Amino acid sequence: MRRGPLLLIPALLLAGISVSPQPVARVVTRPVQALVDYSPLPALQQEIRPVVTPPAPVPRVVLGAQTTHLLVALTFDLDMTPDMAAAARAGFKWINTDATSYLESMNVHATLFMTGMWAEVYPTEARRLARNPNLEIGNHSYSHPAFHSPCYQLATVGHTAQLGQVQRAQQAIERVTGLTPKFFRFPGGCYDRAALDTVHAAGLIPVQWNVNSIDAFNPYPRQIASTVLNGVKPGSIVVMHLMRGNAPSSAAALRLIIPALQRRGYEFVTVSELLAAGPAIQPTDPREIVEAAPIRSLPLPAPRWCGWVTGQKGRVYTCR
Ligand SMILES: [Zn+2]
Repeated sequence: MRRGPLLLIPALLLAGISVSPQPVARVVTRPVQALVDYSPLPALQQEIRPVVTPPAPVPRVVLGAQTTHLLVALTFDLDMTPDMAAAARAGFKWINTDATSYLESMNVHATLFMTGMWAEVYPTEARRLARNPNLEIGNHSYSHPAFHSPCYQLATVGHTAQLGQVQRAQQAIERVTGLTPKFFRFPGGCYDRAALDTVHAAGLIPVQWNVNSIDAFNPYPRQIASTVLNGVKPGSIVVMHLMRGNAPSSAAALRLIIPALQRRGYEFVTVSELLAAGPAIQPTDPREIVEAAPIRSLPLPAPRWCGWVTGQKGRVYTCR
């Protein structure tokens, strides 16, 4: 439609040159030649309107991803409170190297939510984990206080100090590992609306889970494994821990979970990889509050038997 006027532009320019009383050799200098050659381009660009897709909205809270692909994001928290740091200085190890070496040997992609204090107490281990391209590092606060109470038996941090917890962890993780986390996990998974606002104001995205492995303080790997294997669906996020001292059976559970999910065809991905596969599954509670009653002092009884059972809903891994 606009071809006529477009063609006219170079024609008029050439006409201008030809009526010039000056010699052609002087008129067609380099800039003029460039103008003659390229002047139609801006008009063409007006005609070709690029399709601009609006950026996907930042999810308020991520529980999983909507996908039919067999993808699962295993996530592991690395807690460190001042009391735990004191125990570490006395020689206690808050790192489950059995679990980390198993994950590394199986080339599992996973996300580790690291407290800033954990990175400072174990800088060599933090750097080593961060160098593994299969592992993504998230922020789990600086010293693991609850951002909303009640939250198990965690100490609470008030709203004004919460931003400092997020930023101080971010700085510690960046200083130790060289990486800048983009996801945040609330200590104990507890939050309220103001806490969510704080994390977003710090530029991070809160990531919860939709499968709780119940590995904290649980001595029974088969119980952890059956909980995970019965809960995982395409796009799930699983929460586990890598401190050994307060999650003693995570490594043994992983040796049951990972081969079983691989047999089902699942691929292990980081949270970033999961969210690249589909939009976030988000909580529907409009109050935006998650809190947790104190944990039981006694663990659940040990199951006597675990295995696959075919029931009305198909095959499930179960423990009795
Ligand atoms: Zn934690």
